[in-house]
Amino acid sequence: MRFTIEEIGEEGLDLTEDLGQPWLDQLLDGERKTGFWSVAPAKLTGRLEKVDQGVLVRGSLSAPLATECRRCLAQVKVAVPVSFTLNLVPREREEVAEKSEEREAGGTASFGSARIDEETFDGRHIELEPIVREQILLALPMDALCREGCAGLCPSCGRDLNEGPCGCAPRPFDPRWEKLRSVKLSN
Ligand SMILES: [Zn+2]
Ligand SMILES: [Zn+2]
Repeated sequence: MRFTIEEIGEEGLDLTEDLGQPWLDQLLDGERKTGFWSVAPAKLTGRLEKVDQGVLVRGSLSAPLATECRRCLAQVKVAVPVSFTLNLVPREREEVAEKSEEREAGGTASFGSARIDEETFDGRHIELEPIVREQILLALPMDALCREGCAGLCPSCGRDLNEGPCGCAPRPFDPRWEKLRSVKLSN
């Protein structure tokens, strides 16, 4: 997943990259333990284009993954959609290079906004792999449930409450728990 600026040419370059399960699993269970694993290979399609300010990188894929339900720990399969547009700017033209290095190190690129994210490159080589890795990690849903309204596990006896009540005394509703849960979900 390495390209040179010459390969892109004036017409741009269409991309198709197979992402095998070992590659996906190494990403999902590497430095960051995401709690996801792959169930099938994925295929990245995209396009590289020269623009005034460097290279515009577009890509999309659907990653067939599985994880545990946040409430009952049952296995949940999710097709995670990943879609990104990035502007790669040559390093010498980037005045705030330090800032984007910080951003890369922290892994907290913004998403969900219309703004096109910028990253730097050496002006000659486009390394697509770290970009794709980061974009997949950013796209992972943090609220995967096995079904809408999953009843979860009983906090006392551990029984899966989707299979029926367990007979433990119901716990009184405590609004503080709701607050805690929303804090966790927004992470
Ligand atoms: Zn569940
Ligand atoms: Zn119980």
